[in-house]
Amino acid sequence: MRQITLYGKSNRRLAAKIIISLLLIILLIAAAFGGIIILVKAEKVDKVEDYAMINAAIYGVKDLATEIAVKVPNLIAKNDYKNRIQINQLRKSSGGVPLTIIMYHNIVADNERENDYEVRVSTLERDMQYLKSEAYTTLTTASLAKVISGEIHGGKYAMLTFDDGFYSYLKYLPSLLEKYEMNAVASIVGGFSSKEVVKTPRPRCSYMTYDEVAKLSKCSRIEIACHTENLHTMKGRRGVRIKEGENVENYKNMLKKDTAIAEQRLLDISIKPTCYTYPYGEYCSESEEIVRSAGYTMTLTCYEHVNYITLDPECMYLLGRFNRSGKMHALDSIFNIAKK
Ligand SMILES: [Zn+2]
Repeated sequence: MRQITLYGKSNRRLAAKIIISLLLIILLIAAAFGGIIILVKAEKVDKVEDYAMINAAIYGVKDLATEIAVKVPNLIAKNDYKNRIQINQLRKSSGGVPLTIIMYHNIVADNERENDYEVRVSTLERDMQYLKSEAYTTLTTASLAKVISGEIHGGKYAMLTFDDGFYSYLKYLPSLLEKYEMNAVASIVGGFSSKEVVKTPRPRCSYMTYDEVAKLSKCSRIEIACHTENLHTMKGRRGVRIKEGENVENYKNMLKKDTAIAEQRLLDISIKPTCYTYPYGEYCSESEEIVRSAGYTMTLTCYEHVNYITLDPECMYLLGRFNRSGKMHALDSIFNIAKK
């Protein structure tokens, strides 16, 4: 009896082992198939016709700049971030020069706390010391155009951008830029600056009034850029971006109007903006069309990647930028990306 029981038990154990083994084999086969399916899908994504088109545009023609200028707008028209990254990668492999753009927001005093969108003035100064020691040239719209035309060459390039038009720019930027011989792009939101009321002392997050923007623009090291009149919001739409199903003509008219008001406010203080900074980096093919036809020759997004610059005029548009968080230890972690 005892033996039979033992025999029965070991039989059941054996059966359980076989079942577990079979299940494991089935799982392994399923996982392998899953992997193959994922690989096949990835292969398909890589073979989209756009990729071939960009490839042909870059490698298959003699006149690179002209050819891409013709082809890239079609890719932008698809409003596809993936296309932009592919174009950038191909520019990199075709010998493009890296341009790392840093995005700052507010600058605060050294006794204030830092966060993702506020850096201490001493942090900003350290950043400038780093760029100076690494011999970076800090570009603006005009000087980037010169790099692209070949008029300026052989340097290491960075761009310092400051978004939203904080009063702290007027307080800190001119003297720092002068001290380190650097340039910066300051983007103004019309609706913020026009509603700003001067109080003494100025609160930490106050914006410049238009009189103050005019004063800041007197510093030759600062370029004033447009950051929309009234579209710096995620309510209703994502920044300037067209909404799902929105009437295209209505959208274009709305954006033209917003851009015209923002520009007029700057023209009133003798500033002709040439850089358009997309709030939250949100854009669409229609917005690029409107902004370009309004005369803007450079557009900035918030996609965090190094830009690779070739002799193609299209390199002026939809540039990626890295947010300089106050929590970040130093700037070299960003600039090291371009060295990889
Ligand atoms: Zn902004």
